[in-house]
Amino acid sequence: MIARLLAFLLLLLAPFPALAQTVVVHAGRLIADASRPAQGPSTITIVDGRIQSVVAGLTPPPEGARLIDLSTRTVLPGLIDMHVHLAGDPSGEFWREAVDSDEYQAMVGVKNARVTARAGFTTVRDLGSPPLVGFALARGTAENLFPGPRIIASGPAISIVGGHGDVNGFRPEVLEALGVGNTCTGAVQCAERVREMSRAGAQVIKFTATGGVLSQQGRGLEAHFTDEEMRAIVTTAHSLGLKVAAHAHGARGIEAAARAGVDSIEHGTFADAAALRAMRASGTAMVPTLMAFTGIREGLAENRYTPTVAAKVRETLSVVGRAAREARVAGVPVIFGTDAAVFPHGRNAEEFVILVDTVGMSPAEALASATTGAARLLGMDSEIGRIAPGYSADLIAVSGDPLADVRVLQRVEFAMVRGRPIE
Ligand SMILES: [Zn+2]
Repeated sequence: MIARLLAFLLLLLAPFPALAQTVVVHAGRLIADASRPAQGPSTITIVDGRIQSVVAGLTPPPEGARLIDLSTRTVLPGLIDMHVHLAGDPSGEFWREAVDSDEYQAMVGVKNARVTARAGFTTVRDLGSPPLVGFALARGTAENLFPGPRIIASGPAISIVGGHGDVNGFRPEVLEALGVGNTCTGAVQCAERVREMSRAGAQVIKFTATGGVLSQQGRGLEAHFTDEEMRAIVTTAHSLGLKVAAHAHGARGIEAAARAGVDSIEHGTFADAAALRAMRASGTAMVPTLMAFTGIREGLAENRYTPTVAAKVRETLSVVGRAAREARVAGVPVIFGTDAAVFPHGRNAEEFVILVDTVGMSPAEALASATTGAARLLGMDSEIGRIAPGYSADLIAVSGDPLADVRVLQRVEFAMVRGRPIE
């Protein structure tokens, strides 16, 4: 009697045990890590969204477990895109800034989150969206409110007044009314802006170290912040445990941002030998976003851009891929990122072809740049980027062998994020 009572009391005290959900994946071939050759048929056991075991051969699932049969497919780690803007779609219509509400852009983001995950990208870094939209999208997919990738969001980029990231091209009173720029002047204010972004929920800090191509700002593509301001942004972010991504095209802006210690240079279009040396010395990665230029070329052909933008577009298109190729040779890590939104979301994997054909990567190297390499740049390499026990169950399946032909990555047939298949 007393024993029964004790058992009953213990039951009351014990936390309600959530029923573990077990999913078993049968893989025909398995690329567990992009740096190692593919393995034969394998069984991956996933418990509550986390990989519990990976064993050779196809073993039957335990009773009550769900079986996902990918025994005619190649299973590999979910892909990571280090540079997207989920809340935007391709457009040259700069007046949209005065028309599209943040709420509308959030809806665009929900739509693109699913498209992106279906395309095999199970983690993305969202490097620029209206104030709270990126953070809301990140929370939305984490809580499974809608299908999408794991999202690491920066919120709006920090820029100089009138720079790439601020609003340009409207008359002053309209600019005043829009007031959406996330700008700063001087080291103190720039440090403050970083702390504000951190408070709002940023998981990474993005700033525009130079001018940008698709904004109406007409001050070119070189450095926009002072060295002192860049240092303030980077040291403040690092002191808060946040990585820093610097948008940069011009060589001197890239060099200054690298010297300030940024973790990645986004685009890096005109990087020269001195800029690449500074990147190497600081351990700064390059995220070349070459698909952005495919999108820009399409936009130019469709006459989508204003004269201010078209001039900058022509300046960049002649050198696309050169800096990434030289960065790779110079020993600077080149990491996968696309700038999706400049081209339609879902076409992210086309970047692999450019990394192989133009930058000179092997298929295995290109795949590593979107898995283990990207995970390292995120500081999440014990969580994502591999299929191994203890890792999040982020995996995809394709027909064919991506280590022989990266084009098969453009036809992802199955995607799972945090153990949840994306429908
Ligand atoms: Zn971008």
